Amino acid sequence: MNTNSFQLRHIGPRVKDQDQMLKTIGVESLDQLIYETIPDDIRLQKELDLAPAMSEYEYLTRINELGAKNKVFKSYIGLGYHEAIIPSVIQRNILENPGWYTAYTPYQAEIAQGRLEALLNYQTMICDLTGMELANASLLDEGTAAAEAMALLFDVRERAQKKANANKFFVSEEILPQTLSVLQTRAIPIGIELVVGNHQKFDFSEEFFGAVVQYPGKHGQVYDYTEFVANCNAKNIKVAVAADILSLVKLKAPAKFGADVVVGTTQRFGIPLGYGGPHAGFFATKEAYKRSMPGRIIGVTKDVDGGRALRMALQTREQHIKREKATSNICTAQVLLAVMAGMYAVYHGKDGLQYIADRVHTSTTTLAKALTDLGFKQKNTSYFDTILVEVEANKLRSVAEANGINFNYIDENHISISVNETVGLKEINAIVDCFEQAFNITDITVTEFTTTDVIPAGVKRATSFLDNEVFNTYQSETEMMRYIKKLERKDLALNHSMISLGSCTMKLNAASEMLPLSNPQWGNIHPFAPLNQAEGYLIMLKNLENQLNVVTGFAGTSLQPNSGAQGEFAGLMVIRAYHEANGDTNRNICLIPASAHGTNPASAVMAGMKVVVTKTDEKGNIDVEDLRAKAKKHKDNLAALMVTYPSTHGVYEKAIKEVTQIIHDNGGQVYMDGANMNAQVGLTNPATIGADVCHLNLHKTFAIPHGGGGPGVGPICVAPQLVPFLPTNPVVATGGDNAITAISAAPWGSALVCLISYGYITMLGADGLTNSTKNAILNANYIKERLSGHYSTLYTGEMNRAAHEMILDCREFKQNGIEVTDIAKRLMDYGFHAPTVSFPVAGTIMVEPTESESVTELDRFCDALISIRKEIAEASKENPNNPLKNAPHTQEMLTADEWNLPYSRKQAAFPLEYIADNKFWPSVRRVDDAFGDRNLICSCNPIEDYMEAEA
Ligand SMILES: *Cc1c(COP(=O)(O)O)cnc(C)c1O
Repeated sequence: MNTNSFQLRHIGPRVKDQDQMLKTIGVESLDQLIYETIPDDIRLQKELDLAPAMSEYEYLTRINELGAKNKVFKSYIGLGYHEAIIPSVIQRNILENPGWYTAYTPYQAEIAQGRLEALLNYQTMICDLTGMELANASLLDEGTAAAEAMALLFDVRERAQKKANANKFFVSEEILPQTLSVLQTRAIPIGIELVVGNHQKFDFSEEFFGAVVQYPGKHGQVYDYTEFVANCNAKNIKVAVAADILSLVKLKAPAKFGADVVVGTTQRFGIPLGYGGPHAGFFATKEAYKRSMPGRIIGVTKDVDGGRALRMALQTREQHIKREKATSNICTAQVLLAVMAGMYAVYHGKDGLQYIADRVHTSTTTLAKALTDLGFKQKNTSYFDTILVEVEANKLRSVAEANGINFNYIDENHISISVNETVGLKEINAIVDCFEQAFNITDITVTEFTTTDVIPAGVKRATSFLDNEVFNTYQSETEMMRYIKKLERKDLALNHSMISLGSCTMKLNAASEMLPLSNPQWGNIHPFAPLNQAEGYLIMLKNLENQLNVVTGFAGTSLQPNSGAQGEFAGLMVIRAYHEANGDTNRNICLIPASAHGTNPASAVMAGMKVVVTKTDEKGNIDVEDLRAKAKKHKDNLAALMVTYPSTHGVYEKAIKEVTQIIHDNGGQVYMDGANMNAQVGLTNPATIGADVCHLNLHKTFAIPHGGGGPGVGPICVAPQLVPFLPTNPVVATGGDNAITAISAAPWGSALVCLISYGYITMLGADGLTNSTKNAILNANYIKERLSGHYSTLYTGEMNRAAHEMILDCREFKQNGIEVTDIAKRLMDYGFHAPTVSFPVAGTIMVEPTESESVTELDRFCDALISIRKEIAEASKENPNNPLKNAPHTQEMLTADEWNLPYSRKQAAFPLEYIADNKFWPSVRRVDDAFGDRNLICSCNPIEDYMEAEA
């Protein structure tokens, strides 16, 4: 046996464990289990056609060689992306720390207080800098955040505007090009008409419901929008401002001139460029619009003992829970990046940010002065970090590139230069040198910074920010390191125990997959750098696309979407473009089974489709006759079916090929939601079941860590007829010959973390990928058997097998007064994160162990659930004073001088032997969701505000 083989590290069960596991399940071999699980007619007959697996050592050598093909230039391109300095303490203790990057979305608040606090800091920082009342805990990038702002403003139109169908949205010509493209993609299907123009000449007619402006403009000019916003407001036109986060340290907060929404990116707060992402987009608005807010909001509440506690506000209701009534489909966001950006503000504090912004500004004015002294014309009258220079661009460009410098080349006679926090006198002189060399001018050397400030009084920041203690306490590295550790200790992540979240595939995120992310060869490439500087990236991304084509059986892949939900939107937009190209402009009906994830209907509506829900039979399968009837009824207008496979019920539906055929026979295309791809890889694939397009959640199946709720990558893979429509980017062309406009801001979305999935596939190879799938199925069926007699599995396949996950029915426990959340909270006392609660069926839990968990861990988990089952049996409706209802139990409670509960302290906190060896203490008791929603507080305000709310 080759013990260097990566699959032996990735897959949990040891070969020697398999026999016992198979015996428990009651099958002779793993192949027999697979045979009994996956319908014969969709099984692949051949091994995946992938290169032989590399060992971890080989891969790391290879990826460093590839990285060396990237040319790390000093990029002053700007356009929403700036080189940033990641504080080492954040890089080492968060970005490179599985305690942070392997955490799940904080639905289980009691074991997620650390990242909830980090996200609350982030929201506070955004509220402070924008001046707005409410911020969410991140969106996917600036472009999509602007599109979300447009959708929100469309949604909150006044009744009269809705009646008059005011559908025009003004977009300033100063908007970033990629933002404009993303806005176009989102506007068209929902009937919004974009009007691009000069905000100084805008006519404010009544057909407009909203507008978006860039602050500062795309080439650096700082405009005072006070009058513009006032005129808009007078006409009931609401205004979104896309703002540069660092500039806001020096510029007037957009709330002060009346903005309704402020969006942007926090990339330059210590996040690597990463050839486009991942970065956290921010979104801030007025409290009045809280119900229409996209994404997740963190809020303050209390626990049952009255202590301060945090949780996702508004009943954790992201928009997509509203299904077809949602105005946004955001699910996975950019939590890890938001945590890092928030920590950047915590570490630098108010003074530090002020220093950085001042220094960036003075570096820019110093550069401007030097260039003006040399005789070049600088055209911005007011700017923060970007100057617009009149110069013979081509002449300059060849010299600059020979010197390892990138500018933004606007046209033959104009460039812009965006300065960032890495720039000092050395960098300024290097820039000036390029001009001198290109135009044979005598050498000057800049020896000191100017003290000019070119921001007019009217747009200067007048309000304070980051006054909260958290931003003014952790400025030494020791203090910062301990603060990060303190928060980390409150959170249960994969480095503590298994997180068996059905549908979310929380598998190993191997260190070798993660290591390259820290290398500036990969981290420090601007997304709009010339392609010849990104050779390593282009090879890696192409290889990954090819690997995903092989895995899905499809012909083309776009890596652009930054989450599964964005993949859904992208895939449906591609289907829409395909129908349009065929002259089928009327095809707008999207069939979606009742059990689908909420993002499916939300995405369909965003793509301009009408959702028709199809029934599920009592076995949890698609009701084929109902589907056939609906497909036939809508055959002239059928656009697509969205189907998850295996189903969200954890079953490989036998009728799947018949289902996809029915759709094709009626003129529709089949969209497969690939969230459950971990049950397919190497054994079957979307092309084989008859789908035309799917998204993959690289942050589920392909090992990108969950990051506490992002980053994600949701590529779409498509059949040949859809390849021409894959999305492009306005700055760097990608996608098909007949491409739809941009889905994300960056050409390849979150290119940096694509390295993780590339490493995963490259190190596993065909054999390792297939064995991973088999072991995922093995682990799920092992749990199912071990729990049988204690819990009933709601749905199974024809031969009574689970797929890679299973739903455990907890509804009968209501007779003992026990709800499914009680089980979720009680699991914390046993050291486990709950499985998925009440999705897709209310009152159930959905367990997905993945292939990475060992049999020892599976046994601990099953022992916990079985022990909890006994506690349920002893519980009664009449007397809710039991360990389930009181869960979770905190250390404080256990060590209090008084103990008045009818069960022992040991029973409360150490109910099984193994727990004492590795006890995890929830840091708060059960949180009160409703209280927090009644008293919405979404920033770290002083405690007095919180007390007031309570009174
Ligand atoms: C996770 C998931 C999605 C959404 O993916 P995101 O990356 O969170 O946007 C869609 N469908 C299903 C079934 C999922 O499990």
